[in-house]
Amino acid sequence: MDAAKTVVVLGGGVGGLVAASALRKHLPRAHRVVLVDREREHLYAPSLLWLMVGLREAVSIKRPLARLQRKGIQVRLGEVEKIDPETRRVTVSGEILDADYLVVALGAELAAEAVPGLREAGHDFYTLAGAEGLRAALGSLRRGRVVVLTAAPAYKCPAAPYEAALLIDAFYRKRGLHDAVAIEVFAAEPGPMAVAGPETSAAVKQLLAAKGIAYHPEHQVTSVDAAAKQIVFANGANTGFDLLAYVPPHRAPRVVRESALAGETGWIAVDRHTLGTHFPRVFAIGDVVSIPLQLGKPLPKAGVFAHAEAEVVAKNIASLILDRDASDRFDGHGACFIENGNGQAGYGGGDFYAEPKPIVKFRAPARRWHLAKVLLEKSWLHLKV
Ligand SMILES: Cc1cc2nc3c(=O)[nH]c(=O)nc-3n(C[C@H](O)[C@H](O)[C@H](O)COP(=O)(O)OP(=O)(O)OC[C@H]3O[C@@H](n4cnc5c(N)ncnc54)[C@H](O)[C@@H]3O)c2cc1C
Repeated sequence: MDAAKTVVVLGGGVGGLVAASALRKHLPRAHRVVLVDREREHLYAPSLLWLMVGLREAVSIKRPLARLQRKGIQVRLGEVEKIDPETRRVTVSGEILDADYLVVALGAELAAEAVPGLREAGHDFYTLAGAEGLRAALGSLRRGRVVVLTAAPAYKCPAAPYEAALLIDAFYRKRGLHDAVAIEVFAAEPGPMAVAGPETSAAVKQLLAAKGIAYHPEHQVTSVDAAAKQIVFANGANTGFDLLAYVPPHRAPRVVRESALAGETGWIAVDRHTLGTHFPRVFAIGDVVSIPLQLGKPLPKAGVFAHAEAEVVAKNIASLILDRDASDRFDGHGACFIENGNGQAGYGGGDFYAEPKPIVKFRAPARRWHLAKVLLEKSWLHLKV
């Protein structure tokens, strides 16, 4: 076995957490696994949708990253300020960290400010602060119009805004306010979860229609007037709202955009099976990568993919260090649950690497998929952190 190696994992979200834990499992303790994040606590993002309608509290969906130290993972809290992929040298809050192997799992940066007026006018449900603000606002609205808006066509968890609309609908039905509050979805994209194919897209539209939620695809917001409560779209349309819940535009984190890792898209280009970058011993996983698919759109950004990619990368890095065969491959399979607000969830899953287009099956909402989603949350929060 080689001398002790240091593997540095940048980001303690879904991908980073799984990568660091799996590395620790596969590597003898002589080798260091260091995880870096600016946040003290890991947040289980899928639960933000339940939190925004009062079904979860923040404390129940966060865990201190420091707990990973029990597993033998060194946790370094700080801002990743610079990444040099040639030398695998990283600057974290002014301090230099040198890695023998580097895993970049810094996720996506949310950029509400890219749309004038958006931040001032509404609440995002992609951050804890935003989801908490939305919960308070939903609670005080007793009559009027709630608009759920996707501010750009590509965003992590393509199911989330649709689930959000369905959960908000259930929130008002439970309070007997269904007739007083109208819910509409304005989407930048041409249809829900388009990469998953027409069957899934139609099924999600049907879920909205069954609840009387109006759906307006291909409405790219250009600006929002917070005072007048008006949204202006690129297609010339505009609409009013009493409460605006939105998915902000996404971009690669600044430190990635400013590094040699940034590809043509701004995101990191990787080998779609090994998640290797153009730089030796530098891997990137999760939302920060862009993996083109043959149908002309990238692999959606989702925790399920970040998780699977992390397992592959961790296993291969451990094999390289231990001089074993590093032949694990990420195969593009993934699935997600789509909450419908009735204590049920739909399920869409399949092979996203299938060519010429992904083969994804949609299963109608059922109690068991909702329970599976809850079970996933519980096991994540108990086992992963
Ligand atoms: C509301 C919502 C619901 C979702 N539901 C689902 C779902 O049901 N199923 C599913 O598969 N996916 C879901 N997702 C998507 C999923 O959460 C993401 O795809 C997943 O978290 C991506 O993992 P990641 O490791 O790439 O990035 P992240 O989990 O976002 O982690 C990135 C980490 O990097 C850290 N970081 C970033 N920049 C820096 C820096 N410069 N310095 C230090 N630290 C930094 C961040 O603090 C963060 O901890 C949902 C997301 C949201 C918002």
